[in-house]
Amino acid sequence: MAGAQPQLDVAIIGGGVVGLIMAMGLMKRGIRVVIYEQSREFREIGAGIAFTANAIKCMSLLDPAIVAAVDAVATPNGEDADKPNDYVRFHDGYRWDPADAADTEDKLLGLLHTGYKGFQGCHRAHLLDELVKSIPPSAVAFCKRFVGHTDPGPGEKLVLQFADGTTAQADAVIGCDGIKSKVRQVLLGADSPASYPHFSHKVAYRALVPMAAAEAALGTFKARNQHMHTGPGAHLLHFPVAGGTLLNVVAFVADAEPWPLTDAHAQRNMTADATRGDLEAVFAGWCPTVRHVVALLPDMLSKWALFDTHDHPAPTYVCQRVCVAGDAAHASSPHHGGGAGIGVEDALALCTLLEMATGAAAAASQADMTALVERAFAVYDVVRRPRSQWLVASSREVCDIYEWSYPPTMADWDKCMAEITARSHRLWYFDIDGMLAELRAGFDGEASPNPSPTLVQIQVQPLVQIQVQP
Ligand SMILES: Cc1cc2nc3c(=O)[nH]c(=O)nc-3n(C[C@H](O)[C@H](O)[C@H](O)COP(=O)(O)OP(=O)(O)OC[C@H]3O[C@@H](n4cnc5c(N)ncnc54)[C@H](O)[C@@H]3O)c2cc1C
Repeated sequence: MAGAQPQLDVAIIGGGVVGLIMAMGLMKRGIRVVIYEQSREFREIGAGIAFTANAIKCMSLLDPAIVAAVDAVATPNGEDADKPNDYVRFHDGYRWDPADAADTEDKLLGLLHTGYKGFQGCHRAHLLDELVKSIPPSAVAFCKRFVGHTDPGPGEKLVLQFADGTTAQADAVIGCDGIKSKVRQVLLGADSPASYPHFSHKVAYRALVPMAAAEAALGTFKARNQHMHTGPGAHLLHFPVAGGTLLNVVAFVADAEPWPLTDAHAQRNMTADATRGDLEAVFAGWCPTVRHVVALLPDMLSKWALFDTHDHPAPTYVCQRVCVAGDAAHASSPHHGGGAGIGVEDALALCTLLEMATGAAAAASQADMTALVERAFAVYDVVRRPRSQWLVASSREVCDIYEWSYPPTMADWDKCMAEITARSHRLWYFDIDGMLAELRAGFDGEASPNPSPTLVQIQVQPLVQIQVQP
């Protein structure tokens, strides 16, 4: 095709929060995108989600419309929206003296500063509705469950296969298909334990409570400010969402039992029915405030098994022109509240690299485009994997800190707060410019000014296995 300008067609598998943000960032750079989503429509399960300041900065670099979408639905922390509180309050939810009539308030253990508007809660469905406004219908195909692909070779488009028997073509595939990612299975092989998430032995109970009821039971200050109530074997977090009309409540509980799955590979049954009574039993004897929060919850609840990729981390996020991002690459337990945010960082990395690839391709052929995409994805893997795998590990450990069982800190809350602060700030005060410099240097084949320890040599991974299960 002499003289034709090489084009890049990117397929994003999965239209969750990371897939949508990835698509917006690519389209902003003039790259053609189609999101293939298995559901009939975009939908978010769950209640609240909060983004850290570094995630918001990445969003602004991807596409300011993403920040506008968050701003449209984010709820400031505190009683006065114009003067939001920029901290998470950690309380002792467990130790109190029932014999002391004055001892009704759980004690403050420390404040974790998040930066200005650092960790504002969003109602998940509302956020998705805002993001979707920026996605043109031509960039989405619903009811398309990815099952595998074939690679005809350099210069030829990858052929994607879907469960309904249809196919589609693309030059590059980004798997944003979440914790049960099929793309990860294709990259790593069906027999690899790293292809599947594993139970972290924690469960979460999530609910939204009307703010009026929460304020009546807890008082305005407690209800409108983000609180983390800690204790042995469990912890309870709440923060306002939906413009302050709802309180998002999540109770995390340790669970030593294995989580039964009907089919380990399909990873079904990650939720189970539960009742408020189950939680009342867990938190019996805890401080009155914690029990008041539990009393606000509906009679029937869902118990979510928290799976992650900690026990079997992916050895690579990339194979040739296929990669994974967000939970598909590094699903973590949610205890840093950073899984989606670090997926946003992935999106900035991939959008930056694919923009460089298309720029370099302007002076090249369509066959060269294959090599440029492979190089971009290889750099992405080297730069992004250490940080995102750190999040997976630290999320497990920080949960143990909240639950007084991390050996170096146990119930010593001076040490706990120092450890929580150091870990949270490592996540939040990320050197985004440094990452971008490292990506650009890696793509250009130069030595990075601050190379990550793993940025030694960039190699394109061979394809482990191509799976097609119509
Ligand atoms: C209790 C809890 C609280 C959390 N709180 C926070 C928080 O405050 N802040 C934060 O940053 N993170 C938080 N997280 C983590 C965050 O929810 C996830 O990291 C994030 O939702 C992952 O987004 P994703 O787009 O990668 O995956 P998902 O949101 O899971 O989206 C995957 C999409 O892919 C689709 N899909 C799957 N398979 C296929 C296929 N084969 N073909 C086509 N489509 C497919 C799915 O239908 C879905 O739409 C929390 C998690 C939990 C459990």
